[in-house]
Parts: sequence; structure tokens; C-alpha cells
Amino acid sequence: MSQAIIFQNARLLDGRSPEGEHDRFVRAEGGLIKEISDKPIQDSGARMIDLRGRTLMPGLIDCHVHVVAGLVNLGQNALLPDALVAFHAQRIMGEMLARGFTTVRDVGGATYALVDALEQGLTAGPRLIVCGKALSQTGGHADFRGRYDNRDADYQTRRLGALGRICNGVDACREAARDEIRQGAQFIKIMANGGVASPTDPIAFLGYSSDEIRAIVEEAHNAQTYVAAHLYTDEAIARAVELGVRSVEHANLIETKTASLMKERGAIACPTLVTYEALKNEGESLGLPAASVAKIDDVRLRGLESLEIMHDAGVMMAYGSDLLGPMHRHQSEEFVIRGRVLPAIEVIRSTTIHAAELIGMTGKIGVIAPDAYADFVVVDGDPLADLSLLTGQGRHLPIIVKGGEFIKNELN
Ligand SMILES: [Zn+2]
Repeated sequence: MSQAIIFQNARLLDGRSPEGEHDRFVRAEGGLIKEISDKPIQDSGARMIDLRGRTLMPGLIDCHVHVVAGLVNLGQNALLPDALVAFHAQRIMGEMLARGFTTVRDVGGATYALVDALEQGLTAGPRLIVCGKALSQTGGHADFRGRYDNRDADYQTRRLGALGRICNGVDACREAARDEIRQGAQFIKIMANGGVASPTDPIAFLGYSSDEIRAIVEEAHNAQTYVAAHLYTDEAIARAVELGVRSVEHANLIETKTASLMKERGAIACPTLVTYEALKNEGESLGLPAASVAKIDDVRLRGLESLEIMHDAGVMMAYGSDLLGPMHRHQSEEFVIRGRVLPAIEVIRSTTIHAAELIGMTGKIGVIAPDAYADFVVVDGDPLADLSLLTGQGRHLPIIVKGGEFIKNELN
């Protein structure tokens, strides 16, 4: 059992109030937050840490990652041996934790075996929420077979390095959704629009028929969870939200009316603008196929505008990064990109309370409150004044705590 921790004189910032609270005392023990007070807390057995001048935040949450994406070329990634993919995932997860992300939601690729490895302490990483393999139609965003590749689509279903699996037709979609849930999926991901990284689906293509999406939404609902969908175009987003999709990934090409629909239905957006910047700058040199390079600007150029449209409509937005291979090091730059058009407090909420809401863990993560997990980052300074304090591979985070255990402590 880890030692109790008391943070003293802390400025708390979890997004529940616009400015946070000053001069607070926080006690954590047994992996949970136990007590918060505006007066000193006595506990002679606790490790006392004075945070005067610093900000105490909940551990950061990223709702759109692919921890098995060791390579930028996802078709090649799917062919790697599972053992090699697992070591890539170990490194990728360890680096995410070092950036202050204590929870990540994997939206395609990671299986429950990785959750198990983390829970058994075989490797270090964030809390991991998984959907198993994303569901894609033939020729959709998780089908990496090019025009002349006629392998059976099943070749990738059970490979750790594959982000998705192919299923077509209402019955096969139901079976695939049930099969992912059987294997430990905590939500279901579908590819409901064309994508950048895949070879034969222009951005505007709709993925899946309405009947297939409706069936998958029903299966997720039956399993007490929800569907997240890969979506760019206004048409695809509106259709998916009408059919009951709750988590709208990317959303770059959304327009005002559909944003209002999202708000009305309680759908949550998970933009991932940093990945298009990274793909633009580095994709080609890191092996992104030419067909994908040609599609980047179709979505990249509307990114910031989509944030403004959704913000104006009151759509809740969670933090996402969606990086691949060596580009994972840009994970925290999404904070700064969003800060160009959104109030800093909204950006903070995307990685705290709004992310927790999307994941379905409100009160347990993304908040500094009694009974929440003792997941913390300490920031040198005020992230509301300077969001770039959250970048730099954890350089401005002298303390990172996950479940009451110090991942890093440079203060004492
Ligand atoms: Zn993704």
C-alpha cells in the first residue's frame, strides 16, 4: 500500500470552476482522493508536498489514441508480429504517462490483453480504455488493402497491429460488435466515413449503411455502452448522430446545423487536429503512402473552424490526438492548437471533466474530488495563462501521480 500524500497550498484546476480554487489542501490515500480542505490537513504518516505557486490538476485524459500504432503506415503496422507491436505499445504508453496522461481511450487496435498487462503491473502506462478492433466495411477506413490486394479481409482480424476488422451486413456487424464486447471492448468504434490513412476511401464516402449503424448502436446499447464513430463530413456526422452515435471523432467538416443536432442529442466531439499538422509536416518522410498524403488538406484546413462552430453551438468537446508512430511525441500540442480559437478553460475541460464524461467515468477521473482516483499532474505555473506548459514531454510537470503512486516527483 502506498504512502498517503498531502498536497499543501495548492491551486486546484479541474475545469469545474472557471478559475480553479486557491490555497487548498488535498489528501490522497489507497489510490483515491480522500479529503479536500481550505485548512491544513494533519496526518503524521503522510508525505507532505508544498505546491505554492504551482497548479494541481487531475491526471490528463486523451480520448483518441492508437497505442498499437508503432508505424505511420497502418497497412504495414497490421503485418507486424504481435510481440513487436506489444513492445511498441509499451513504449508508446510509457511516453504518454510521462507527458501527464494518466488515462487514454484507445479508439482502434488495443485489445483487453494490454489492459490486463497494465493492471497486473507488467508494464507502466495510463489507465487504458479499449474498443478492441474498430469495425469497418470493405474498402472503409480500417481496410488497408489497396486496389490490387485481394487477400481475404479476415487476415487482420486477430492481429494486434491492426486498428480494425472488416464486417459487412447487419448480421455480421452485430456479430463483430458482440465479439469485440466478449473480448473486453468497453465501447464500440466504427468507421462511418472515408479517411486519410486508408487507400481506397475518399473523405466524402459514407461508411456503412444506416441499417448497419443502427444495429451496431443497438448492440452497444444492449451492452450498456456507446458507439464512437470516425467522422469528417457534415453529411456523415448528421447521419451518424441521428442513428444514435454518441462519440463523434474528428468532425473537421461539421457545419452549424449539425453542431446544433449534436448538442440536442448530447453527442460529444473528439477533435484531433494535431494529427493533421503532424501528418502534413512529417507523414511523407515517415512512410505515409502517397494516396494518404494527398488527402490531408481535405480535412486539415477546416480544423480550427470546426472547433469554433462546435463551441458556438455548445457542443461538448473532449481531448484527442490520434497520432501514429514517431509522431506520438506531438500528443500534447493539441492543447496549444485548440487554444488558438477556444478559451483556455474549455481546452482544460476537454482533458478533464469533458473527457471523463465521454469515457463514462465522471467523478472517478478528470476531477479533484473525494472518491476520485488519485491521478494528478502538478504544473509549474498557470496553464490557463499558458497552455504550452502542458507540452514539452512533461518538462513543466514536476509531479505525475497515477492511482496514488508517483510516476515522477522532482519536488522532494
Ligand atoms: Zn484515430
